[in-house]
Amino acid sequence: MTLINLLASNMLAFVLSVLLLGLLIGSFLNVVIYRLPKMMQRDWQAQAREILELPALPSGPIFNLILPHSSCPHCGHEIRPWENIPLLSYLFLRGKCSSCKAPISLRYPLVELACGLLSAYVAWHFGFSWQGAGMLLLTWGLLAMSLIDADHQLLPDALVLPLLWLGLIANYFGLFTNLEAALWGAIGGYLSLWSVYWLFKLVTGKEGMGYGDFKLLAMLGAWGGWQVLPLTILLSSLVGAVLGLFMLRLRNAETSTPIPFGPYLAIAGWIALLWGGQITASYLQFAGFG
Ligand SMILES: [Zn+2]
Repeated sequence: MTLINLLASNMLAFVLSVLLLGLLIGSFLNVVIYRLPKMMQRDWQAQAREILELPALPSGPIFNLILPHSSCPHCGHEIRPWENIPLLSYLFLRGKCSSCKAPISLRYPLVELACGLLSAYVAWHFGFSWQGAGMLLLTWGLLAMSLIDADHQLLPDALVLPLLWLGLIANYFGLFTNLEAALWGAIGGYLSLWSVYWLFKLVTGKEGMGYGDFKLLAMLGAWGGWQVLPLTILLSSLVGAVLGLFMLRLRNAETSTPIPFGPYLAIAGWIALLWGGQITASYLQFAGFG
């Protein structure tokens, strides 16, 4: 029996394999979340200097998603392969750098764990299928975007746009919906938040969200079709309002502090893609239309 046959026929083996894969991908996402915004910053800076006709800064050491190898931000100790095993290394090292004993952020193992568990759930939900493979890619993308947006109020085009195209391509083959629904999902997703943005700006003179949010909802519409949009908007506003108020209380900040909307859209869109049909059906039944 080949490996593919085993994974296709044994659900437990499949889910466990995807759990391990998810942990490894989570480890890579930590790198993306940390480095991609820095890479974009460097790029913008170089472009701005070029437009202002300033001499280019000397190009520093190579900095991309692969190089340089990860190192401790406190002492520069290069992280060895055995110190880079998802979850396990954090536990072995007891959350401290092996060289200088500076604490390692708990966020790294948490992202790995979240990625592993979400991936395993997707595998269980969809089984060994193209749908499952597509949803795994989308889940990893959404996880990286959410954390980058939470850190920097930034949704990188380098992540959102390729996944938007991929959603349309996947639905060319009818993976989650038909191509027509996916197309209108992308258009409707963009325009709905775009209208809210301009309405809000005209009324209050403030910017309530960023263009990245429009693109993110367009991407979710491309994957799930226009049918997922109402539930995604509803859920993200609900989650955003509750968590947003809660965090404002915690930070005791002014109400004008920007709260990234991307993570809420990502969570809501993910839920709508996985259970949208059931949620809508049970709501309609509850409301007496079923
Ligand atoms: Zn160190």
